[in-house]
Amino acid sequence: MFNSLSDRLTATFKNLRGKGRLTEADIDGTVREIRRALLDADVAVPVVRSFVSHVKERALGLEVSQALNPGQQVVKIVNDQLVEILGGQTRRLNLAKNPPTVIMLAGLQGAGKTTLAGKLAKYLKSEGHTPLLVACDLQRPNAVKQLQINGERAGVPVYAPHPGVSSEFDEVTGDPVVVARNGVSEARQKQHDVVIVDTAGRLGVDAEMMEQAANIRSAINPHEVLFVIDAMIGQDAVNTAQAFNEGVDFTGVVLSKLDGDARGGAALSVTHVTGKPVMYASTGETLDDFEVFHPDRMASRILE
Ligand code: GDP
Repeated sequence: MFNSLSDRLTATFKNLRGKGRLTEADIDGTVREIRRALLDADVAVPVVRSFVSHVKERALGLEVSQALNPGQQVVKIVNDQLVEILGGQTRRLNLAKNPPTVIMLAGLQGAGKTTLAGKLAKYLKSEGHTPLLVACDLQRPNAVKQLQINGERAGVPVYAPHPGVSSEFDEVTGDPVVVARNGVSEARQKQHDVVIVDTAGRLGVDAEMMEQAANIRSAINPHEVLFVIDAMIGQDAVNTAQAFNEGVDFTGVVLSKLDGDARGGAALSVTHVTGKPVMYASTGETLDDFEVFHPDRMASRILE
C-alpha cells in the first residue's frame, strides 16, 4: 500500500523500461494520481486542470536515465509548482512607515474573522506591537461582544460601539464606516502601532455586505486587507475569493479551520485564482491556534 502522494507518484514509474524522454503514455498514470490527490484535497476543478497541464508540460521530455529517477523528478516538479502557486516565500505583514498599521478583516459570516482578530492581536502583541481591535461587525449583535471577549483574553483593548444601548455614543457609531474611522483615530491618538478592524459578513456573497466592506476600505485606507476563508469551503473557494477580490481587493488570505479534515486545497484555489498570498492559518478555537503560513509546509501537507 502506498499512502503518500509522493510514494504513489513514484510508484507510477515502477514499470518504466528503457531510457530516453518521458512520453504521454509514461506519465498518464502519474497525471491521474496528481489529479485525484488534488481533488481529494478539495482544490477547485479549474485549478486542478490548469495545475495538471502545467506539470504535464514540464514532465514531458524529462530525460530518463539510471542516475535520475523520474518519479522523484516529477514529485519535485509537483512540489515546486505547489510552492510557487502558494506564493513561494512566507509573505510578511506590510507594516506602515508611520503607525498605526491598519489591518482590515473581510470574509463570509462564520469564516472565522472575529476569532482571527483575537488571534492576530495576541500574536502581534507577543511580537512587541501594541494593537487595538475595532468592532465593526454590527450585523451580528454577538460579534461585538465576542470581539470584546477575545480582546480581553488577548490582553488587547477593543474599540466598540454599544449596539442596542440608547446613548449618544450609539447614535454616532451605528454606522460601521464611522466606527471604523473613529477606531483608527482612537488608535492614532492612543498610540497603538497596529489597528485590526473586524467587519461584518453574510452567509453568502451579498452586494450590500460587499458595498459596506468596500466603504470601510475606502474610509480607513488599510495597509492590509486580510480575506478570511474557511478551509472547509471546498469548491466554493473560487467564487467566494473572486467576489471578495473584486469587492475589497484584499492583500492577503487567512485560511481558517485548518484543524479540521480539510487538506488545504482551498489555499491553492484562492492563491491560484487571485494571485494573493496566504499569510496566516487558523487552526482551532483558542487564541493560540494560529500560525504564520509557510507555502512549502502546505505543499508537503498536500503531497503527504
Ligand atoms: P466570523 O463570523 O467570520 O466572525 O466567524 P467567527 O470568528 O465567529 O467563527 C465562527 C465559528 O468558527 C466560531 O464558532 C469559532 O469558534 C469557529 N472557529 C473560528 N476559527 C476556527 C478555527 O480555526 N478552527 C475551528 N475548529 N473553529 C474555528
